[in-house]
Amino acid sequence: MTATPKAWFEETYPDLPLEVVSFLQSRHRVLIGGQWVDSVTQKKFPTFDPATGKVLAEVAEASAEDVDEAVKAARSALEKGPWPTMTPSERGRLIWKLADLVEAHADELAVIESLDNGKPRSVARAVDVPLAVDLFRYMAGWATKIEGNTIPISVPYTPGAEYLAYTVREPVGVCGQIIPWNFPLLMAAWKLGPALACGCTVVLKVAEQTPLSALRLGQLIIEAGFPPGVVNILTGFGETAGAALASHPDVDKVAFTGSTEVGRQIVRAAAGNLKKVTLELGGKSPNVVFADAQLEEAIPAAASAVFFNHGQCCCAGTRLYVERKVFDRVVEGVAEEARKIRLGPGWDPQTQMGPLVSEEQLERVCRYIEEGKEGGARPVVGGKKKEGQGYFVEPTVFVNAQPQMSIVQEEIFGPVVVAIPFEDPSEIPPAANQTIYGLAAGIWTRDISKAHRLARELKAGTVWINCYNIFDAALPFGGYKQSGWGREMGHAVLEEYTELKSVCIRL
Ligand code: NAP
Ligand code: MG
Repeated sequence: MTATPKAWFEETYPDLPLEVVSFLQSRHRVLIGGQWVDSVTQKKFPTFDPATGKVLAEVAEASAEDVDEAVKAARSALEKGPWPTMTPSERGRLIWKLADLVEAHADELAVIESLDNGKPRSVARAVDVPLAVDLFRYMAGWATKIEGNTIPISVPYTPGAEYLAYTVREPVGVCGQIIPWNFPLLMAAWKLGPALACGCTVVLKVAEQTPLSALRLGQLIIEAGFPPGVVNILTGFGETAGAALASHPDVDKVAFTGSTEVGRQIVRAAAGNLKKVTLELGGKSPNVVFADAQLEEAIPAAASAVFFNHGQCCCAGTRLYVERKVFDRVVEGVAEEARKIRLGPGWDPQTQMGPLVSEEQLERVCRYIEEGKEGGARPVVGGKKKEGQGYFVEPTVFVNAQPQMSIVQEEIFGPVVVAIPFEDPSEIPPAANQTIYGLAAGIWTRDISKAHRLARELKAGTVWINCYNIFDAALPFGGYKQSGWGREMGHAVLEEYTELKSVCIRL
């Protein structure tokens, strides 16, 4: 008997849990109508380990035909079968059970996420997976609390008549959900949780760069006992599968997270049947440090505001506005934090920052860095890719940037921050609000009135004061301006997944 040769990842990452190895080596298919099936064309595509550039696994490439099948399955699950007649309590319990399963497989999911996306395993384990669990639990609770109102109506043109009027919230229907690669499992949870709590059915299209954790999640969804077709999961490309989903005439709503550019395409694609659209798009978030801030907290926090997840966060604090009096100290402090960050593969417990997700992102981020330098901005630290294998970029802090430069205006989606001095607080609102985005903002000061005043003036969906990157399933998240439409999380998201029906009875 000959021993099976070890896969390269078993050699490279010798302590990979066995269940991860066998998952990676299994046949990856798409989930349609409760069944794992090959794509109609049988085509596959590779997903890479960004720390080495090597192929981790091949997954099915869904085409428009697969989207069609998945939408049919979701429609049928919405209208027939057990899902629409389940009680809210039963629905809530299923979501809760899924949360328990994700929690029980937290280590495994964190390793899969780290391998596919590049983020440190410890971060995936401490942040991505627990937040996904918490989101499912939070939304499980909402399933039994989606209520309408009774409304006293007067109807002046029917004098003397009496009415009883009330509203009910019904599931919006079949939801197409398209997610990015920066927090693959967590974005799946943000999308699936509220849709399921509201009684919708879903076709989820995951990002081509990071398909694996959602496929494992799909197995757990089946294990939890969701009826077939309630959740369908497709791996495939945006231009084909994603576009087919966004334009599908039998999809009632599309929810998208990703770039503002693709967000615009989603809106156009959705126009055919005027499906409901929610968008969580890019950002160029200002993080404002006043001289009276507690700098020993503000400095490391300003670094992590941008370097967390390698800068691949839509809400990353990429424009660091610092009051002139403390500018040098804060910039040097953030640069020092950057110097201390240990780059390496996500699998290494010492790693604090992994590689960017793909070669394409590496090139994109390096292009922005070059544009910054050519325009006269100066990197105090970083400013280049790390030599050797993998898609690593050094954490970078720019100074001397001009307001109209691409590094100040555009979403880089890498570990790059631009520090900009200001003299007077009145300069901040116009400067901070001058990009097309409005996702998040940070304020650091001990003056509570100043903080609230500025919070009111910032055009941002989330404002963090003396903290940054604080997320909770109960706290709505979304963008002003071109950062998006609608909100995720909190009870605000329930409106995005329900239709409001008014019922009026003449007594
Ligand atoms: P992207 O193209 O916007 O991708 C996001 C999702 O949309 C992926 O699932 C993608 O599929 C899909 N998609 C792409 N084109 C589509 C289309 N025409 N119709 C329907 N779906 C489509 O993002 P990216 O190219 O991966 O990254 C580019 C930039 O977007 C980043 O550098 C960053 O600035 C921004 N971004 C923002 C976020 C965020 O959280 N706001 C997340 C990721 C990226 P495939 O990946 O399979 O092609
Ligand atoms: Mg990958």
